[in-house]
Parts: sequence; structure tokens; C-alpha cells
Amino acid sequence: MSLIVQKFGGTSVRDAERVMNVARIVTDTFAKGNDVVVVVSAQGDTTDDLIAKADEINPNASKREKDMLLAAGEQISISLLAMAIEKLGYHATSLLGWQAGFETSSAHTSARIKRVSTERIRDALDKKNIVVVAGFQGISRRGDITTLGRGGSDTSAVAIAAAMHADLCQIYTDVEGVYTADPRKVESAQKLKEISYDEMLELATLGAQVLNNRSVEMAKKYNIELEVLSSLTNAPGTIVKEKTRMEKMLISGVAKDTDVARISVIGVPNIPGIAFKMFSKLSAKDINVDIILQSIGHDGKKDISFTVAKSRGKEAVAALEDYMVGHGAKEVLYDDEVAKISIVGAGMESHAGVATKMFEALYDAQINIQMISTSEIKVSVLIDINEADKAVKAIHRKFFD
Ligand code: ADP
Ligand code: ASP
Ligand code: MG
Repeated sequence: MSLIVQKFGGTSVRDAERVMNVARIVTDTFAKGNDVVVVVSAQGDTTDDLIAKADEINPNASKREKDMLLAAGEQISISLLAMAIEKLGYHATSLLGWQAGFETSSAHTSARIKRVSTERIRDALDKKNIVVVAGFQGISRRGDITTLGRGGSDTSAVAIAAAMHADLCQIYTDVEGVYTADPRKVESAQKLKEISYDEMLELATLGAQVLNNRSVEMAKKYNIELEVLSSLTNAPGTIVKEKTRMEKMLISGVAKDTDVARISVIGVPNIPGIAFKMFSKLSAKDINVDIILQSIGHDGKKDISFTVAKSRGKEAVAALEDYMVGHGAKEVLYDDEVAKISIVGAGMESHAGVATKMFEALYDAQINIQMISTSEIKVSVLIDINEADKAVKAIHRKFFD
């Protein structure tokens, strides 16, 4: 007998028919003699709808109250799924995050899981129940309801798998696995049989939303093998694990991130310490900086450009504007009509010319590169947001067709 964790995303439980479909998958798994813990997300667009409801009343609502509201989405889907399982003649117990033992930090709307105390889940499994757990939520030490950040149900599933030493953790979604690009955007995208944690972590962080990046981080840390697969077809999915047996592909995927903004501080005095002072202002506000580009100094001045998440863009400009102009800078420019396009692949480590090939694809498509950043297994470029989809297609064609 094995312990299997199965996670189903919002589209997989969108309506009554889909909930019954999920109930069939989990009861089939149970009927084969396995213990089954199911993690579900809110139905369809529920989370977006709840956010819209909050914004209608108070866009500046406290994060504690936002969490109180958002956690409600998953409460609906766990109870409905438990009812569907009962209808098929099996026993089910639905549990909210706190009931399932999810203790988190108190960082509302982006809380981190600290511990999962699984006694209650274990107890229900021992009584031959299929346990249905609300993803995306937990409870802080103060006893407040928290959520883990968008897409957080993946992390809930991996956390249970880790805490309970599950034999298998399956992430069911609305596509058949992890592809070389978003299969909804790039027709020729290919499904990967396997991908390493490191590559998947980069892809997830760089915009491939099929897995939440924290879930991959946690899977790597606890060595939990993940299987990403479709809740609607029986096709084999993608295995995410430490070492892949496959021949290293040059790159494993192309990702797009439109949640970025570029800030340029123009005419900064070319003296030591200026970058330190500038970025201290941002770190004091907990604003993460990504790609950084500094021009060569001329006439005692230089320009420093960098990217931040779009949601923090205006705040970053406000933190810098007066300060930098006060320190001799000419102006601070802001542009959120940009996108970050990245290629990821372990094959890059051993092959020269991968970045060049990407730049050539962009040149062929006549797309201008604003900024570039590279690491061992990725290359990212910043471009005009209106050319983002065209760029992904052009790069994908260059590497995969
Ligand atoms: P769920 O609701 O099941 O959590 P998500 O919407 O969060 O599903 O993630 C699945 C979506 O991720 C797919 O519908 C697909 O459009 C998108 N996606 C982006 N990049 C990729 C990729 N490289 N491989 C597979 N899916 C991707
Ligand atoms: N329902 C949450 C969201 O929409 C969590 C998830 O889907 O993973 O972000
Ligand atoms: Mg998701």
C-alpha cells in the first residue's frame, strides 16, 4: 500500500462535472489499495473573483482580511469534492488548512509553510477516509488564517507529501505536463518526459505558471518526485526530479514573465557607493531587484537600470525619485510595458553559443533587446511587452523546430 498525494488546480474542479471527474480519479486510486490525500484549489476563477470583490469595497484592505476572504475559495471546493466522493460510495473528510495542520509564518498573502502537523490527516486515513485538504492556506502562530501566495496549492501538496513521506505526489492540471513553452501560446510546444528540479525551478520562477516555484524548491529540498499530468486525459505526464536520465537537451524551455517593470536612473554621479545607497533604499522596503544594467561612466555620470515586479514598480520609483535627484541624478524613468523572456536548460553549461542563438532568433524577428541577464542554466532578455508572444514563438522555433 502506498500513500499518494494528488493535487487538482482550479480548472480541474471548475464545475460539478469536473468535481465528479476528480472524485473518480481519487476513488480509483483509493480502490487500488492506496491511502490518498487530495489537495484542491478554489474552483475556476474563484480566487480572482474574490480579489475583485475585495477591491470593490476597499482596495487598501489589510492583508489579514484579504486572507480571510481568499481562504474561502478553497473551503467551497474541498467540501464539494468530499460530497462527490461520498456520492461514489467512499468515505471522505475535508479539512481546511489549519485543520490539516498547516502552520505558517504571519506574512499574510505570501505566508511560508513552517510545519505540517499531520496527525489529523493520518487519523482520517487510518479510518479509511480519502482526505481532502484545502490548498493555499494555513494558520499563523497567532491563530490567524493565512494564504501562501497565488498558485500556492502546489506548495501545499508538496508540503504534505514531504511531511508524510508520501510515495508519490501528482500535480493534476489542465495541460498534460510541463512543455517546452506554454502549450496554449506555442502550438509546437513539446511535452517533456522529465525535467530536473533546477531547470523546473528556473522555468517556474521565470513565468511558467504550471508549477509554483516554491513547490519546486520544496520538492528539491525534500527530494519529492513530482508528476505533472492532466486531469482530463490519461496521457503520461512529466516527471520532475533530481537527475534526469534523458540526454541533456540544449534548452528545456522558453518562459515569459510580464510581471516586470524597468526603472532607469539617469545621470547618476560616477562615484563609489552610489549603487549601494540606491539599492539600500529598495531593500529597506523589501523590494526585490532582478536584472541590473549599469552604463560606462562618461563626463562623471552614469545610468543605472534595473527591473522589479510590476506590482512594486510605482513604490520603487517613489522611494528613489527625490533621493536620487537629491544626490545629483538627472531623472528616474519608469516603464512597465516590458516583458522578460527566458530560456532555461542544463545543456547550456556545456555548450557555447546558446545565448547567441537566442539573440539571433530575436534579430530574425526584428525584436529589440533592452536588457540581458544570464546564469549557468538560463538567459533572460527584457523586451517590449507587445512583442512578448512573438519573441517566445521565434525563440522556440529556433531551438525546437
Ligand atoms: P492549475 O489551476 O491546475 O494550478 P495553472 O493555470 O496554475 O493550473 O497552470 C497551468 C497552466 O500553465 C497551463 O494551462 C498553461 O497555459 C500554463 N503554462 C505556462 N507555461 C507552461 C509550460 N512550460 N508547460 C505547461 N504549462 C504551462
Ligand atoms: N486558488 C489559489 C490561486 O488562485 C491557489 C492556487 O490555485 O494554487 O492562486
Ligand atoms: Mg496553479
